[in-house]
Amino acid sequence: MKSPVRVVVTGAAGQIGYQLLFRIAAGNMLGDDQPVILHLLEIPPAMQAVQGVVMELEDCAFPLLQGIVATDDANVAFKDADYALLVGAMPRGPGMERSDLLKKNAEIFSVQGKAINNHANKDIKVLVVGNPANTNALIAQQNAPNINPAQFTAMVRLDHNRAIAQMADKLSVGTHELSNMTIWGNHSSTQYPDISQLKVNGEVVKDIDHNWYENDFIPTVQQRGAAIIKARGASSAASAASAAIDHMKSWALGTPDKDWVSMAIPSDGSYGIEPGVIFGYPVTCANGQYRIVQDIPISDFSQQRIDATNQELREERAAVEHLFS
Ligand code: NDP
Repeated sequence: MKSPVRVVVTGAAGQIGYQLLFRIAAGNMLGDDQPVILHLLEIPPAMQAVQGVVMELEDCAFPLLQGIVATDDANVAFKDADYALLVGAMPRGPGMERSDLLKKNAEIFSVQGKAINNHANKDIKVLVVGNPANTNALIAQQNAPNINPAQFTAMVRLDHNRAIAQMADKLSVGTHELSNMTIWGNHSSTQYPDISQLKVNGEVVKDIDHNWYENDFIPTVQQRGAAIIKARGASSAASAASAAIDHMKSWALGTPDKDWVSMAIPSDGSYGIEPGVIFGYPVTCANGQYRIVQDIPISDFSQQRIDATNQELREERAAVEHLFS
């Protein structure tokens, strides 16, 4: 048996946290042979609820779960952490300005970035789920100067999975038959789901009606979260947690041959994106490292969409840049 790794989940008493923790402890994220010690971070008013989650985790008697740390102190939570899933974030309240939301989240993610810098394993893999995820990841990264900036990522995998599910339905195939989907850019309504490289059982998909793609598929993927809130009366927590598991699993254990996944990662300038912003790219993963897929042909249509989401991320960065340490 391998030695255990430490996995931090923030917002551990929240909806997504409640879906996430049990799957991590069951081995869905890092494999059936990888024991874990879970670190649960919450804010003080939620600590009682966290105790309930801890009791339920204990009651599952998961063979891989070798310990639980529950705390409201980021310095304790990130101590020796190998993986961190940053889920807890300030939700937008009634009448709250966007600048207030960014500022509130900047406070949360700068504290956590500093704690990661000072206490985590230097190889820590960080996934930000809490919104605005891409910019929150940037804030945490900028507050952790001693950690490789590439170790800070944000989640566009839910959008990726939603896009695959929509296309599988359209083409009447199983989701496992599809490969090479891409989500470019921000986890926001400017995200660009790109099917130009999509394959069914290794064959490029042709003859998709562009009108359907532009006016039905893309808005459906972009607005899926709102549709779920309308139907369920609550946001899409289980699918968000499942996508977070997928993101970390791909990063840690690798992507299949001839396929890729979408991860929001610090741009190196590939595809003309502003360097440094946390941008959704097609990536392959091996040996715990990701690599941007290069030389994908970009049509004029794609370029316009990529430019729009790039522009939004540059603006988000400009709004918080003065808060970087
Ligand atoms: P959720 O667990 O439902 O959501 C948490 C975050 O994930 C939100 O920012 C949410 O964004 C985001 N998110 C990303 N993708 C999705 C998706 N597909 N569906 C839904 N949410 C998504 O929120 P809860 O309010 O249930 O729980 C949040 C917890 O975080 C609370 O327990 C709170 O106490 C805690 N918290 C912890 C902090 C800390 O540890 N320091 C700091 C702040 C809060 P969006 O708001 O856009 O839906």
